[in-house]
Amino acid sequence: MGAIRQVYLDHSASTPVDPRVIEAMLPYFGEVYGNPSSAHRFGSRAERAIEDARISVAGILNCQPSEVIFTSCGTESDNLAIRGAGWSARHRGKPSRLVTSPIEHSAVTNTVDQMGALMDFDTEIVPVDKFGAIDVGKFTEACQSRGALASIIYASNELGTIQDLPLLSRIAHGQGMLMHTDAVQAGGQLDLDVERLGVDMLSLSAHKFYGPKGVGLLYLKDGVELAPSQSGGSHEHGMRAGTHNTAFIVGMAKALELAYEENDERLKHFRQMRDLLIHGILDRLPCAALSGHPDRRLPSHASFILHGIDANALMMHLDMAGVAASSGSACKTGNPEPSEILLGVGYSEEEAKSGLRLSVGLQSSEDDISYALDALETAVEKLGRLKREMAR
Ligand code: PLP
Repeated sequence: MGAIRQVYLDHSASTPVDPRVIEAMLPYFGEVYGNPSSAHRFGSRAERAIEDARISVAGILNCQPSEVIFTSCGTESDNLAIRGAGWSARHRGKPSRLVTSPIEHSAVTNTVDQMGALMDFDTEIVPVDKFGAIDVGKFTEACQSRGALASIIYASNELGTIQDLPLLSRIAHGQGMLMHTDAVQAGGQLDLDVERLGVDMLSLSAHKFYGPKGVGLLYLKDGVELAPSQSGGSHEHGMRAGTHNTAFIVGMAKALELAYEENDERLKHFRQMRDLLIHGILDRLPCAALSGHPDRRLPSHASFILHGIDANALMMHLDMAGVAASSGSACKTGNPEPSEILLGVGYSEEEAKSGLRLSVGLQSSEDDISYALDALETAVEKLGRLKREMAR
């Protein structure tokens, strides 16, 4: 029996590390091993690499290098922004309400929930429409009640929907609130110019744009007061204690540089592959409806509700056929609960258990897409047949 073909369509969960990124990181696993905080030349070499990475990232974000804080992942970056802004507001006796949306990643949702449950922070969740776009009227009302921070995801991991951040930032600022965005899915694809976006804080994670897992960053606008959520040494201006991961920081900067140098070709390829998937699925599967926004969506992202199909069972069938997909965010794999995000945009419990996410990447080819479409059609037919037999 020959090996099964492998088709990876889960780039929103993680991407393979670009070989050019691996090459850039290699010296920092070996010859450049000094602690970047050490005063001797072993330390200075590592420190130089980190500061070069910071300058490079700042160029892409259009900010000062001193406004870039390196973290261990996107989750940590979200935590630092939300806890840091909330704690700082409370400490200074300022309004400390937190405003967010029902379609945030759990890194934001669970942080906001915990601040509410353990520390009595007022929290408000602003509704979204059926495409996952923030209700601007309700967002304005929520900000008018004053607060510390609004945290709104730039592009949804489950729906692909992109928010109008410049508008939301203007509204939040109009009421004296800070604006944070979880831009983890947007990194490598969408505009990250923090001036244009108008945000005070922005979170990224390298493994979504062909960098290594376990490294991220927070853009923190100069002058914004934040109480660090991790205490220890004075690394990252005291905002994020802990010895730097030199190799991964270098890798993240290299991956971000490549993503924006090659942005036009990458996005053209992503859109072509994504649209083949969307049209193929809507043509071939009568049970399928697109979820998320039809136009304002990530170039790499296709998502659907497959009415009457159990998404977890479908994932298993696809996996057996060699196709990697997702029924929601990676953190929910194997969790039979309906997707909170799909419930958040108004889908029923049953529909929220029928979500399918396919996300394309640099290596995705037309052949991959047609193989995945065939595998999907076969799996959906099989599951439909089983369901009918069980109902008899
Ligand atoms: N935010 C979003 C939107 C994500 O998709 C993810 C990862 O899936 C995260 C945050 C967490 O990032 P990390 O895996 O680096 O902790």
